[in-house]
Amino acid sequence: MFIGHFAVALGAKKYAPMVSLGMLFLACQLADLIWPSLVLLGVEKFEIAPGDTVLTPLRFTHYPYSHSLLAMSAWSILLAGIYLLLRNGGVRAFLVIAMVVISHWLLDFISHRADMPITLSESTLVGLGLWDHPALAVSGEMLLFAIGTWIYSRQTRAVDKIGNYGFWGLVIFLVTIYAANILGPPPPSVAAVTWSAEALWLLVAWGFWVDRHRVPAIPGQH
Ligand SMILES: [Zn+2]
Repeated sequence: MFIGHFAVALGAKKYAPMVSLGMLFLACQLADLIWPSLVLLGVEKFEIAPGDTVLTPLRFTHYPYSHSLLAMSAWSILLAGIYLLLRNGGVRAFLVIAMVVISHWLLDFISHRADMPITLSESTLVGLGLWDHPALAVSGEMLLFAIGTWIYSRQTRAVDKIGNYGFWGLVIFLVTIYAANILGPPPPSVAAVTWSAEALWLLVAWGFWVDRHRVPAIPGQH
């Protein structure tokens, strides 16, 4: 699951217009942003296993701190709580950010095989395995992303060229990475995957940048 997570962030803008898209990106991808650093520290583990599931060559063997339901619930409260303290966005922003963080677990639960932990002990692993049905998984994720993009583009309007081209460039870039991941060869090494996952932080920055050049759209002006 990749652009499906971003779809949630884009759509969430409707429910918390005061929260930057960058913040919503941080929330929707928090699990995958924490994960590579934990892998680099040797705390979490994965393997490259082409053909393991149809849609991903990655086999997640140990990721309780970034991807268990328990840890992600804690991360959601932490991130939303920090936002509440620093930006004073109110209860609505708190709830939206927390729910977007948790949505990552739900979407991964739908797409992953039964490798999603509930608690830190990883004694129970769950997952519906949508990735084993590639046509359904890809079309579902693309549809979700189209809806999210549509909502964000309706809820906000560009105030300058950055707000316009920067946003649509971001949309195209996300779809391109998604396509390259699915259609490209399996990654050469664990390190390559880990460092490209670290590069996802740039997308968070891109979200903040674009959002600063867009304002809430006035209803009826489309
Ligand atoms: Zn994930």
